[in-house]
Amino acid sequence: MNFKIHVIDVKNQLQNYIWLIEETESHDVVAIDPTEAHLVEDYCATHQLHLKQVWLTHWHKDHIGGVPELIASQQIPIYGPRAELSHIPFLTHPLQNDDHFKFHGLKIDIIAVPGHTLGHIVYFIDELDSVFCGDTLFAMGCGRMFEGTAEQFYHSLNRLAALPPRTKVYCTHEYTLSNAKFALHIEPKNLAIQQRAEDIQNMRDLGKITLPSTIELELETNPFLRVESADEFARIRALKDNF
Ligand SMILES: [Zn+2]
Repeated sequence: MNFKIHVIDVKNQLQNYIWLIEETESHDVVAIDPTEAHLVEDYCATHQLHLKQVWLTHWHKDHIGGVPELIASQQIPIYGPRAELSHIPFLTHPLQNDDHFKFHGLKIDIIAVPGHTLGHIVYFIDELDSVFCGDTLFAMGCGRMFEGTAEQFYHSLNRLAALPPRTKVYCTHEYTLSNAKFALHIEPKNLAIQQRAEDIQNMRDLGKITLPSTIELELETNPFLRVESADEFARIRALKDNF
């Protein structure tokens, strides 16, 4: 089996990306956090892909918004956090921490990462060296702490930090440039952050996507992975909220 990852730039105010995983023989695809149905349908039609599964990381509108329309015309299994069923009533495959399932032989591991929302989950795929992490870990940043506590969020980020360093980080939003500015504010003398901030600026000047990142790169340049306690995490998360 061979797999290819595609991205749809939603070009909305929140700068969402919809990631797709294609099995390249069958052209079957999974769509992750489909903001809008028509973008996924148009992309699949253009590239002759068949939408077979939808994976959701958490209940926020910009992540699940396209699902009702996608399932109006066809039956598609919808995977997502069991803990958020009350917000996502159309889930057909509720998932929790340590659950596993398969897509064309590919094994997907579920890791629960409360913090941004209480039920937030990520999809880790060892065989693809990839994690689809929604709004928990961002390139050089992390999601806002809407529902969880600092202890929960800190623990969740530690779980992601413990994934193999080569793991590619597919998060949902193009927030890297503003995250880089904040990272420089927190660690102005960090050479890796300085270099990456420059790289990110250049990529954005050229209109390029700054994702995926890697766990290794995040460990070096993401202030939220570089804190050593939940208290320290809470402190810089609050700073970032008002940055
Ligand atoms: Zn969110």
